[in-house]
Amino acid sequence: MSKLRFVNCLLISTAICFFLPSIAARGGHSDYIYPGDGNSSFHVTARNLFAQEETRPSLELTRGYMTNDDLEKAMKDFTKRCSKISRLYSIGKSVNGFPLWVIEISDRPGEIEAEPAFKYIGNVHGDEPVGRELLLRLANWICDNYNKDPLAQMIVENVHLHIMPSLNPDGFSIRKRNNANNVDLNRDFPDQFFSFNEDLSLRQPETMAVMTWLRDIRFTASATLHGGALVANFPWDGTEDKRKYYYACPDDETFRFLARIYSKSHRNMSLSKEFEEGITNGASWYPIYGGMQDWNYIHGGCFELTLEISDNKWPRASELPTIWDYNRKSMLNLVASLVKTGVHGRIFSLDQGKPLPGLVVVKGINYTVKAHQRYADYHRLLAPGQKYEGLMFFPHIQLKIRVIMFVSV
Ligand SMILES: [Zn+2]
Repeated sequence: MSKLRFVNCLLISTAICFFLPSIAARGGHSDYIYPGDGNSSFHVTARNLFAQEETRPSLELTRGYMTNDDLEKAMKDFTKRCSKISRLYSIGKSVNGFPLWVIEISDRPGEIEAEPAFKYIGNVHGDEPVGRELLLRLANWICDNYNKDPLAQMIVENVHLHIMPSLNPDGFSIRKRNNANNVDLNRDFPDQFFSFNEDLSLRQPETMAVMTWLRDIRFTASATLHGGALVANFPWDGTEDKRKYYYACPDDETFRFLARIYSKSHRNMSLSKEFEEGITNGASWYPIYGGMQDWNYIHGGCFELTLEISDNKWPRASELPTIWDYNRKSMLNLVASLVKTGVHGRIFSLDQGKPLPGLVVVKGINYTVKAHQRYADYHRLLAPGQKYEGLMFFPHIQLKIRVIMFVSV
């Protein structure tokens, strides 16, 4: 049996809070039928989140937003300008053949390191373009500030940040929610309760690209950016009986903590009159099935939030600088939470110095975090201010050890 040496076990956490003066979130309610499997016809309360509720925004409204070609050029220009800390890659193509571009930001872009990775995805819904604009701004802000701003520096040096401004360029080009095959990409993932199909080959190319991406890169956490409301949404998104109520996932406390980081760092999200603290459990708001968020947590080992960042899906382009200003700290703090909180470390055998990829399980939380196969680093996000008891399993050497983890405030 190998003796174990624990290296670099960081037990750090933080509580991040940027309260700013009150501005009420702009919300608008509408009751409508849940567009599910045909059997459900209960009413839910939500905002303009579904295609059938919408009229396409006028071309006039899209003025000032980047076209797909503009966005592609901006991403290429960015990786040229910031070549030291970034690279551009594509994870596949949309139905109409547009590349699904991603910018990776890191001090060692393209390399695998013993560090957590975070991904932001925007424009999952074609008619929600604010996220794609903000993500380009985020990349540029980090590039401009990583030598002078501690948060930007922390992200560049300790995280691999992957930014995909648009998952749905085809939907964007026709100003519609769904992709070119008229499929809602945020209903196209395998679902734990009601999967519409389990055949990977029948999934949309954009969905498949994301699923393959998560096999290639081990993301610790992520967020998708949507529009139509102002709230940070966390799992579960669906319930077993399709009714609407709070349905907590095993890491409910940690998800609430992450969602609060976003809402409380935001200019006005946490001041919401509708959502306490500006956060919500997905199923308690309105259940959905086949969403990307739950799939990430269940199958990708990735803690994903769904962020509704603008009540107005298509605000005038002149408002974008303000919306960016409202979201900037939130976006940065959420990424930085990967290194500021939770339990992280690497495990090596003492005799040969080989990385020992194990499994980390925290007592009372039915969820397993895997250490990296090659580097044996693990990143277990946990709500701060508590002592946790954990177990590490090393199936290949049939070893099980007990550890106490402190996650301080
Ligand atoms: Zn959306």
